[in-house]
Amino acid sequence: MSLCKRRGFIFQSAEIYGGFRSTYDYGPLGVNMLRNVKDAWWRSTVQLRDDVVGLDAAILSPPAVWEASGHLANFTDPLVDCRSCHSRWRADKLTGPCPTCGSTDFTEAREFNLMFKTHAGPVEDEGAVAYLRPETAQGMFINFANVLQTTRKRPPFGIAQVGKSFRNEITPQNFVFRTREFEQMEMEFFVPPGESSTWHEYWIGERYRWYVELGMPEDRLRVRPHGPEELSHYSSATSDVEFLFPWGWDELEGIANRTDYDLRQHAAASGARLEYFDQGTGERYVPHVIEPAAGATRTMMAFLLAAYDEDEVGGEARTVLRLHHRLAPYQVAVLPLSKKETLEPMAREVLGLLQPHFMCDYDTTQSIGRRYRRFDEIGTPWCVTVDFQSLEDRAVTVRDRDSTEQVRVPVDGLLAELRSRAGTA
Ligand code: ATP
Repeated sequence: MSLCKRRGFIFQSAEIYGGFRSTYDYGPLGVNMLRNVKDAWWRSTVQLRDDVVGLDAAILSPPAVWEASGHLANFTDPLVDCRSCHSRWRADKLTGPCPTCGSTDFTEAREFNLMFKTHAGPVEDEGAVAYLRPETAQGMFINFANVLQTTRKRPPFGIAQVGKSFRNEITPQNFVFRTREFEQMEMEFFVPPGESSTWHEYWIGERYRWYVELGMPEDRLRVRPHGPEELSHYSSATSDVEFLFPWGWDELEGIANRTDYDLRQHAAASGARLEYFDQGTGERYVPHVIEPAAGATRTMMAFLLAAYDEDEVGGEARTVLRLHHRLAPYQVAVLPLSKKETLEPMAREVLGLLQPHFMCDYDTTQSIGRRYRRFDEIGTPWCVTVDFQSLEDRAVTVRDRDSTEQVRVPVDGLLAELRSRAGTA
């Protein structure tokens, strides 16, 4: 957490006013990394497939949507008050006495709805009520017919969305793990009813692999099926991908079999026909839905935790983030060896050569050793140093973050060298 603040990954929101509980702002490094997490998800879920399309739906929606989805009635957590200090807790997460005062005297649990309610327009009456979405998923269900008609996709196919969701969590905690405003990466995969179990297994495997391919160590990752008492109101089976956080195993993502629950609910409530008609076979059915639902902000935190390392280089302790190059806030740092003006034109030429292909930073301050440490600490995989020799031989030094190995590379071959290291040659 302190590295996040000190280096500009994540700041407490409204900090100059004393902070606003459970909201965070993503700084210059954090915004890059969060985008990278979302882009990596979009790339594997949408770009590299021909059976998933994207969507960006509204955050504000009318009560009818949440009435039909079941969220108005069911999207609740059990809330208890401590009778002694009046703090409030989620009954299902409370295992012992009140964490604030130690009392065991609690009120009866009552259901607390987690949706943020607001009013759209200048009149604050019941007719103007709107909700901030607590999940992005409903956007896909209410646009199911639109997407079907406009894309010619047919089951099995998916609709993916990345965006903000809001939940009035009773006990937001653990930094950005649980916040009231967060980002999700969700995909609804519509399949013929008989194929839902097979696709459920398939997506559990795909999603687990995504984390591993981005460098998550497998001994801190597991898949855990939900017990029957844990299942959400819409789910017939759910497995979570969990990460070993400092406080224990906890959820990164839920992969649920939502059956035909949502499409049927919305069809009944709206009168729209939400089904698929197969012209080939003459068959008409309501698809079942497999949903991998991940949190972008929570996942970013897990990648940071997994990447954090301390080792020794040249007898000196260093902090290093061993982030996958796709996730690192900067892939390349261009560093003129000294501030001397003679190096600047060539260093800027190298920067201009790399910027269209990599997120780069340019840094001339302090000694080269200090600069290497600073870029190690924020996870930059490659530093490119321009020195006085470079002016004569048109070659630069490429330093690797993890091995700290340095090699001399001609400027003409630099892009190819870095691309091949990044596996995009
Ligand atoms: P929990 O039981 O922890 O409240 P959930 O099972 O209700 O979470 P889902 O509805 O399955 O969560 O949401 C999908 C994903 O969205 C979660 O796995 C998580 O990564 C993310 N997410 C959910 N709520 C929050 C939150 N308050 N803050 C950050 N991320 C969240």
